[in-house]
Amino acid sequence: MQLRYNFRLYPTPGQRESLARAFGCARVVFNDGLRARQIAREQGLPYLSDGDLSKRVITEAKKTTERSWLSEVSAVVLQQALADLNTAFRNFFASITGKRKGPKVAPPRFRSRKANRQAIRFTKNARFSITTGGKLRLPKIGDVDIRWSRSLPADPSSVTVIKDAAGRYFASFVVETADAPLPEAASEVGIDLGLTHFAVTSDGRKVDNPRFLRRAERRLRKAQQDLSRKANGSNNRKKAVVKVAKAHAKVADARRDWAHKLSTQIIRENQAVYVENLAVSGLGRTRLAKSVHDAGWSQFVTMLEYKAARHGRHFAKIDRWFPSSKLCSACGALAESMPLNVRSWECPCGAVHDRDVNAAKNILAAGRAERLNACGGTVRPAA
Ligand SMILES: [Zn+2]
Repeated sequence: MQLRYNFRLYPTPGQRESLARAFGCARVVFNDGLRARQIAREQGLPYLSDGDLSKRVITEAKKTTERSWLSEVSAVVLQQALADLNTAFRNFFASITGKRKGPKVAPPRFRSRKANRQAIRFTKNARFSITTGGKLRLPKIGDVDIRWSRSLPADPSSVTVIKDAAGRYFASFVVETADAPLPEAASEVGIDLGLTHFAVTSDGRKVDNPRFLRRAERRLRKAQQDLSRKANGSNNRKKAVVKVAKAHAKVADARRDWAHKLSTQIIRENQAVYVENLAVSGLGRTRLAKSVHDAGWSQFVTMLEYKAARHGRHFAKIDRWFPSSKLCSACGALAESMPLNVRSWECPCGAVHDRDVNAAKNILAAGRAERLNACGGTVRPAA
């Protein structure tokens, strides 16, 4: 399976200049390609093939005076920018013809010079390498300092260099990793992702966002308030924007590290993991949007999913129409309504439930039943 490994980069001022040039060239090639296809369509000409497009906006363009500077950056970076454009077009076509499932994909849009996040990709063809001194050697950029927070398990097939809104640089390596099955575990777990806790498990564990994360979030909110008080176009506003971006990056980093630890622990301890299918994009349109996105559940669930695949664990999402909080996990009776403020309840059968733990137990039961069904078993979830 392919995994990404991200590390912080520390380019020198000269390397930053070269990177800025490469970001710019990649953007220009992407936009030139998009424009060429749009014009062809307006003129009723056939769709420009990937090969023709590459010839036109890279090979031929380099020979013109207006685009001769494209030669100053690695050709692979330009080809990869065009590859991104081609993928965007393919996804868009697959989406409008119904070949691609899920939410509709918008047609590719022009990349802005003012975009917060800039990225370029080097593939193996670009001959990027890691020097014996432990630096990242990038063609036409140089040997860039990198902080290796962990080691790469194999040779990377590509590296994406990213500059984020906070002005930080990252290298994101794609590495093909072998499966690493863990010894069989006895327990299985259902996880309820709720609003009062980050997660509640069927064995009764309640996981809250850690205090350091809440602190970082408070600092972010304060930076955002400070920003809103600064006059438009002022120097102080520019400084405040960078401050917000930095606070944002801190929150994102802290949350990711924490989600990594939690997901690794859950996968290590359990043979099967079931979570409610949140369909976060659906919930995202409601008033819960902010908390849903802030809570970082989808990131956490994604981690569970790929770690399960990698370590030989079973993972499944349980459909969200499943009434996990209204169903008594002891007798299977359905409570009539369950307002959000009800934290615990008693079923007529006598069972007293913590709302979230009961939901997690139901998710576990539904997950087990689905798995048995898939294995040819006859067990169905209690109605
Ligand atoms: Zn009951």
